[in-house]
Amino acid sequence: MGAEELTETMTGPAQQDEAARQVTKADDLAGPQEPTDAGDRAGLVARFPAGVLITAPELVAGYAHDESRLTQRNLPWAVASPATTDEVAQCMRLAAEAGIPVVVRGAGSGLSGAANAPAGAMVLSTHRMASILEIDTIDRLAVVQPGVVTGALRAAVSEVGLFYPPDPGSVAFSTMGGNVATNAGGMCCVKYGVTGDYVVGLEAVLSDGRVMRTGRRTIKGVAGYDLTHLLVGSEGTLAIVTEITVRLLPAPAGAATMVAMFASLSDAGRAVAAIGEDAVDTSMLELLDRTTLGAIERKAHLGFGDDVAAALIVQSDAPTSADQLAAAEAACRRCDATEVVVSTDPDEADLLLRARRLALPALEELGDRLLDDVCVPRSRVVDLVEHIQRVGIEEGLEIGVFGHAGDGNMHPTIIFDESDDASRTAALRAFDSITACALRLGGTITGEHGVGRLKGAWLSRELDPVSAEMHARVRRALDPQGLLNPGCLLPG
Ligand SMILES: Cc1cc2nc3c(=O)[nH]c(=O)nc-3n(C[C@H](O)[C@H](O)[C@H](O)COP(=O)(O)OP(=O)(O)OC[C@H]3O[C@@H](n4cnc5c(N)ncnc54)[C@H](O)[C@@H]3O)c2cc1C
Repeated sequence: MGAEELTETMTGPAQQDEAARQVTKADDLAGPQEPTDAGDRAGLVARFPAGVLITAPELVAGYAHDESRLTQRNLPWAVASPATTDEVAQCMRLAAEAGIPVVVRGAGSGLSGAANAPAGAMVLSTHRMASILEIDTIDRLAVVQPGVVTGALRAAVSEVGLFYPPDPGSVAFSTMGGNVATNAGGMCCVKYGVTGDYVVGLEAVLSDGRVMRTGRRTIKGVAGYDLTHLLVGSEGTLAIVTEITVRLLPAPAGAATMVAMFASLSDAGRAVAAIGEDAVDTSMLELLDRTTLGAIERKAHLGFGDDVAAALIVQSDAPTSADQLAAAEAACRRCDATEVVVSTDPDEADLLLRARRLALPALEELGDRLLDDVCVPRSRVVDLVEHIQRVGIEEGLEIGVFGHAGDGNMHPTIIFDESDDASRTAALRAFDSITACALRLGGTITGEHGVGRLKGAWLSRELDPVSAEMHARVRRALDPQGLLNPGCLLPG
């Protein structure tokens, strides 16, 4: 696909160059707020549960889009904020009756446009469903409502000596519902896997308002199709998740942390493969390039010099963490690390991780950003980063490279000027080239941010035609009217 086609796919009349975290004004968004076939919306509003629906354009505008860039933004018709599963079901039944599209919204921190409202849609916000319902220390389970912030669950279970591993960079504000619907990853996936690895059961409201339970509370159970994991990662296109049961682990021992610095990004990429090959037990293996380190340095002053072209942050929470980090250090030195620093001080590690979480906001200060999210086998990280460097030089663009290198999931962040057509076209060409490279290397177009509205056109490149048809059929089976998040995941 060429850059012009991509521009068409990824942009729309309402696309604005404002920062997504600024409050969006209704006038900035594409109308109409109500489609022409809207029917009697005033009569409809009166039938919603009291206090649940708002339709004032200046209020609903704040729910129009997520944190993605270059995805279409529209003014929703209304925002519903139900407090119970029954109210969700009631809202969904009314929307279905009137044929109104519905997009579920957690914190709106998504990076693929999956929570962007289609024109005239009802946004269903889960912010009033934010209770931790149960923490069971014997069966090691937690049951939560979808609006619970992930960091709040992690903190609550740690108070009873348990551990909920998934830790996306947005852990302090993204919700469990959003994490389930995007199958969110994070920094500890290299050892602990992704959100879906912890979800054992769900309650969900279907597009016709019926309530379905999936999964179970037992460690094992194979009765029927695995509908739980059909909903995990479905980006709000199959059902509205209203309750989530996750399994918990015993809290791990305190982690030891290591930072290795390199004079070239390729050396750091080689070290990622070497650490894998030496079977080092890492619970985190993050890579940051010079552009990203420089941007973070301006905000957090960690003391990385200009001569550092790339750094790896390695953590091990194994009982043998000292041995594991010694092995990781040896692998890094074999790959020409210029300096290696090891620490067992939890405060130092915390500071480093907080700095790592600044990568995206720090890069955003360099200009407009187009963030990619590709994942390749760990052995091919070096090929991916070398390709990204070449593309940056060819297109004359600065590309910050950071990500969860231990599981091959990198976030090349293209810095460009959205108001300049040439810069924008070059950015789209670079984005396309990087995504295509990931597929060529045996990887995927998205490791954790999802397809959303940003990568719908690429999905058909990854799926074979039969699989693509099955995707469409599954979606029709669960949502025959096509009301749930139309335009997301499968375009059209
Ligand atoms: C600074 C920053 C760092 C980030 N780091 C990471 C990271 O390390 N790893 C990672 O995976 N992501 C990361 N993200 C992306 C984002 O935070 C995740 O995708 C997160 O899971 C989205 O959660 P949310 O509550 O904001 O969901 P939203 O953005 O509101 O929604 C995301 C999708 O989930 C659907 N959805 C939300 N709630 C429900 C529900 N109850 N039922 C059905 N569908 C629902 C929405 O319709 C939409 O399709 C980061 C984002 C930022 C801004």
